[in-house]
Amino acid sequence: MESLGDAFKEVLRANTKEQRTTNFEKGDYKDDEGFLRCCICHERKEFDLEFPDGEVMRVPVLCKCGVRKRDEEAERKNLAEKVERIKMLKANSLMDRKFMESTFDSLVVNQDNVKQVKICRRYAEKFEELRKKNQGLLLFGTVGSGKTHLACCIGNYVMDNLRAVIATSLVKILQNADLLKDDGFVRQMSMADLLILDDLGAERGTDFALETVYNVIDSRYRTGKPMIVTTNMTLAEMQNPADIRYKRIYDRIFEVCYPVEFTGKSWRMREAATRFDAMKKLLEE
Ligand SMILES: [Zn+2]
Repeated sequence: MESLGDAFKEVLRANTKEQRTTNFEKGDYKDDEGFLRCCICHERKEFDLEFPDGEVMRVPVLCKCGVRKRDEEAERKNLAEKVERIKMLKANSLMDRKFMESTFDSLVVNQDNVKQVKICRRYAEKFEELRKKNQGLLLFGTVGSGKTHLACCIGNYVMDNLRAVIATSLVKILQNADLLKDDGFVRQMSMADLLILDDLGAERGTDFALETVYNVIDSRYRTGKPMIVTTNMTLAEMQNPADIRYKRIYDRIFEVCYPVEFTGKSWRMREAATRFDAMKKLLEE
């Protein structure tokens, strides 16, 4: 036991020596009892440690400012690590580059999307709770009404909270069907805390495509983790598909995705209307 105590003292002595230089600011002073004090908060930066054998060692201790400085440094380090992890999540998300920076705060809200934006923002904010319930979203309706953009706003929000997201489309998966033979990719899709599948219904209706779409959606369903699906189809088209083979796919989606309808004018139409008005003003007024 003696040697263990000695070893401990040895470590303490070495630390003390090192900390005397790091735990010292110009202006610190010794008090009447010979303890080092901080020149800012005037707290002691040393105390006497008494060992069972009676030896007393004067060892450094952090003053108020020292504790604050240590905590701030730890926080800075945590933040830097978090930023790094978010960067990694985004790099691995497969999200279209143009949506990487999409956030609710930078979104243009108008009368056509105010309700949908509110729902999607709430979904993002409550993701931790909804994730456990395997609750996803089905964003459906007008072409170009910003469904993909909103889905990516949710995805980015979720990644900013350190959750893994995969954002891709069934068309892309079908174009790279070999991906589904790649265990890494399949695992990545099922590991993701949120899977965003863009533009359902845009794929060609071959048996192979349908089987693949069903497999992707069904295996996601089985992981018990949420997905967000966007589609240009109407609810009626999905509830009563002309092609009955689609029914089991849509049924799976309805089971776990809350439908949000987009009815507004498309961005492209709005853009065209704005340009028309501008031209009219320029040429006719
Ligand atoms: Zn201090």
